[in-house]
Amino acid sequence: MEEYKIKDRVFCKYIPSDELETITNKISKQINIDYKDKEIMFIVVLNGAFMFASDLFKKIEGKAKISFVKLSSYSGNQTTGKVRELIGLNEDIKDKDVIIVEDIIDTGITMENLLKKLSSYKPKTLEIATLMFKPHRFMKDYPIKYIGKDIEDEFIIGYGFDYDGYGRNLKDIYQEKK
Ligand code: 5GP
Repeated sequence: MEEYKIKDRVFCKYIPSDELETITNKISKQINIDYKDKEIMFIVVLNGAFMFASDLFKKIEGKAKISFVKLSSYSGNQTTGKVRELIGLNEDIKDKDVIIVEDIIDTGITMENLLKKLSSYKPKTLEIATLMFKPHRFMKDYPIKYIGKDIEDEFIIGYGFDYDGYGRNLKDIYQEKK
């Protein structure tokens, strides 16, 4: 399927599933080297990262645990700005080697928020693995250890990514048709 329509928008195939497989192979290989003889605690950011996380997790050779979190979309008042609460962290990450698994880092604001929250639990190490990265949009300066692929500023769906809740089930990634 080369094109996919959701509501008013048309998307065309952009990153095929075999390239996504190559990407998860590359990241898992590097993690297996970097964390040899260490136990990894993966923290997956829902909803978007679930498919990437499951493909990646299967390729991890050492001891590893996985846990899923969500950032609520609750917005605070004008003085507190956008307050987002971390939901679902039921593992003790103190002194653990933690890798956050995210679908995409765009401006970097979401991840910065998450980094602050998770580091307050005092993990031993805290790194990021993101499937997609938009370097031209990124406004922050924290390091991102594992990046699957840099993309331009385009809106993508498929392989976990959605538009209004749809499109997550597609095995390839699609971009909006211009
Ligand atoms: P940031 O805070 O880095 O600007 O935004 C990160 C979040 O925005 C991602 O976790 C994702 O939910 C959403 N996002 C950013 N770019 C895209 C995109 O191209 N497609 C989809 N479906 N979501 C995106």
